[in-house]
Amino acid sequence: MQRLHFPPDSWYSVLFENPEIDVAIRKAFLTYERRPPRKFLLMAQLTFLGSCREIGRSGFFLEHHDESVMIDYGVKFTDPPSFPDMVSLDDMQGVALTHAHLDHSGGIPRILSNTEASLYCTPATRDLSVLLLRDLHNISRGRLPYTRKDIALVKRQCDATAYEETVPLGRHFELTLFNAGHIPGSAMVSIRVNGKRVLFTGDFNATESKLNLGARKNLPKHDVVITESTYARRINPDRAEITQALIETVLETVERGGTVLIPAFAVGRSQEIMCILEQSEISRKFPVYIDGMARQVNDILVRHPEYLQSPQSFTRAVSRTRIVHDNRDRKKAAESGGIIVSPAGMLKGGASHLYFKLLHDNPKNSIIFVSFQIPGTPGAELLATKKVSVGSREFEVKAEVRMHHLSSHSDSVGLVDLLERIPGNPKFHIVHGESESCDALADILKKKGRRANIPDINDVIEI
Ligand SMILES: [Zn+2]
Repeated sequence: MQRLHFPPDSWYSVLFENPEIDVAIRKAFLTYERRPPRKFLLMAQLTFLGSCREIGRSGFFLEHHDESVMIDYGVKFTDPPSFPDMVSLDDMQGVALTHAHLDHSGGIPRILSNTEASLYCTPATRDLSVLLLRDLHNISRGRLPYTRKDIALVKRQCDATAYEETVPLGRHFELTLFNAGHIPGSAMVSIRVNGKRVLFTGDFNATESKLNLGARKNLPKHDVVITESTYARRINPDRAEITQALIETVLETVERGGTVLIPAFAVGRSQEIMCILEQSEISRKFPVYIDGMARQVNDILVRHPEYLQSPQSFTRAVSRTRIVHDNRDRKKAAESGGIIVSPAGMLKGGASHLYFKLLHDNPKNSIIFVSFQIPGTPGAELLATKKVSVGSREFEVKAEVRMHHLSSHSDSVGLVDLLERIPGNPKFHIVHGESESCDALADILKKKGRRANIPDINDVIEI
């Protein structure tokens, strides 16, 4: 075989003189060397790939010199599902994920299947993401830009990172995660680049709940902050009051011999309800049933107690909860005079449909919503009219219908309070909110003399 000639001290000669070097390593090295040189950026550049004046498909691409990092890469539930634009992943040094919700994590396997770079997130986020991504894959009927096998990369490529731990990414970036208080394991991602510090808040909640500790409030100095604005036009009622009102509605129902249905999201909200029922002793006196994916979420959170407000309370709550396996169990639960926590949170699919049909026409029962009901969903219709169409049938509802909203996002006061406290007079870029919410948060910040911008999709800023 003809030998290729390279300068003797070059890496090439090392590779070719040593056949024992793994073929994969040679290939990787040679592919790397053949690539066209990447543009060399003197300033750091941040591209807003998604969640601009919208909720969904979060994605931020940060580049400096010849390296880059990605922060979140989520899905938007359009038909078919949409994702942020794809970018060149050459020389990617890391992918950071704020939390497991699919509007932040839904496209992560697509990124990982195109790069060797590690995924940086908390271990709870890693495990919850895999659960949610598999579920997304099951319901998407092949309309995702990645395979079921690629979802395994979330585990394989993950470099699990604890809160407050600082990790170098390549030569130009340094990453730290801070507790975001949104769902267990959720983090704000702080990246040091080009002598500056950039904070990606992800979704956050500064108010603590029976499940989560609140977001870290005394954050270090930052120069640029990319912030969510979901509830920038809303004031949440006091959480202790809502919790108390929820307990009262539940008690009134079970004491009159009725059954309570709480349609709830599987990640976070269901577990918070379980903790509320445990701490108020309700789960000692009345049966509590848990249905749907919340069961697997419980198993994950038992393995990651460090992300919970009270691991002991949560473990007790889980041990007092009855697991529902099939429709026979569901019928039994509906007749039990207890409390059923089941997805979906807006009565749109999931086992809550079936419970609704079993419970709706008895005035002793109650249906309690615990999250915002998007207009057009059965939950919103039911709250507004006490009538609802499920499938092809219209139901007139005799059961009591209530709303006790336990928000997992900070409201307008909470958002501004946390953002204002960040030292360094940072420039704010407002994302992850309906257009009016982005405007509202920008207005408040500007009135306080702060710099605020609302980026459009694929806008690029220099840092
Ligand atoms: Zn979220």
